[in-house]
Amino acid sequence: RPAFDPRDPLGIDAEFTPEQLAIRDSVRALCRDHVQPHVAEWFERGEFPQARELARELGKLGVLGMHLDGYGCAGLSAVDYGIACEELEACDSGLRSLVSVQGSLAMFAIWRWGSEEHKQHWLPQMAAGEEIGCFGLTEPDHGSDPASMRTVARRDGADWVLNGRKMWITNGTVASIAVVWAQTDQGVRGFVVPTDTPGFSAPEIKHKLSLRASVTSELVLDDVRLPADAVLPEVTGLRGPLSCLNEARYGIVWGAVGAARSCLEAALDYATTREQFGRPIGGFQLTQGKLADMAVRVQNGRLLALHLGKRKDAGQLIPQQVSFGKLDNVRGALEVARTARTILGANGISLEYPVIRHMTNLESVLTYEGTSEMHALTIGQALTGLSAFRG
Ligand code: FAD
Repeated sequence: RPAFDPRDPLGIDAEFTPEQLAIRDSVRALCRDHVQPHVAEWFERGEFPQARELARELGKLGVLGMHLDGYGCAGLSAVDYGIACEELEACDSGLRSLVSVQGSLAMFAIWRWGSEEHKQHWLPQMAAGEEIGCFGLTEPDHGSDPASMRTVARRDGADWVLNGRKMWITNGTVASIAVVWAQTDQGVRGFVVPTDTPGFSAPEIKHKLSLRASVTSELVLDDVRLPADAVLPEVTGLRGPLSCLNEARYGIVWGAVGAARSCLEAALDYATTREQFGRPIGGFQLTQGKLADMAVRVQNGRLLALHLGKRKDAGQLIPQQVSFGKLDNVRGALEVARTARTILGANGISLEYPVIRHMTNLESVLTYEGTSEMHALTIGQALTGLSAFRG
């Protein structure tokens, strides 16, 4: 009989192929060599100074747009991509955000809805990490309700002219290409905007207390003039951006498990070495109860992620199921992080340990890519047939 493995108590690793375990190990090694030694310091400084270098390393590993086919992308499975997301976010949610926004939002938008020219021009460079992309949907006054966005694109002869503001845009300041969604007289359309276009700027948002090792920006579009072929030709309406969000949310389902796993490992390590009242704190029943609940939460999250991944690979995954995973796995990861923090006592609030960093990062993860409330409403609507989005 196999022995109980605290890192894999349910034996889920046996579900993965040797190739998938190799993906896990190579992403883990990249995190260990390039990010782990620096991430607490970056977080403390509120900077992500090596975003461009890291993008190239991630590109070499084939992680950027890894579940897309052709155009220099690795063409791997949804489960493969999920395994990579778990490892990236076990390191830091900011690192996973870089990869999610690049692959699942910016690249996916071009891959799914772009012209052949867009794909040939942008995707190989983005897959290699030579060009970084961002995805501008949210605005200062329109987050959960993007249908009300105010950014507009109007025709001027053959050109498009964009005006508006986007807010909370990951990678914005380091991006060389922005996929921007705007109202047109035909409905919402997506635009491929090189960030050196006159009238475009992306000031970085400061004073965040979450995802501090991640670039988050405002996008300012001031009479940004684009050629006729800048529009993503294959989609009109919110279906375009929502299809991309669905891709990125799927990665978060796995990523959240990684953050939770890292917190559990830190708590377990601490509980077996820290002594109070003459014995390791892991020997106290209250601590064991916490550790057992955390382990159950992490493994349930991984099983759910794997289940959704298999459905995605079979072409069976629907958005309501992604909502299910995003809602429960991020909420669960936050619970695990908060419990781990208590086990570490005062050390739980120190950046010497990963727990408080994951805990505050997960507050962003709970909000972006659809808040937990939006996913609850999506599931509620699917259960009842009644939409509660407008009250
Ligand atoms: P609001 O929509 O104003 O919501 C505020 C609160 O009201 C929430 O609790 C919400 O759930 C609740 N609420 C709203 N409507 C309802 C309702 N009908 N019923 C019940 N409750 C409701 N956006 C991008 O486009 N690109 C990015 O790259 C990106 N990166 C981000 C990175 C970070 C670090 C963060 C924090 C955000 C990022 N976002 C990005 C924005 C993110 O997607 C939005 O913050 C999110 O969609 C919520 O929008 P909001 O912040 O405007 O909140």
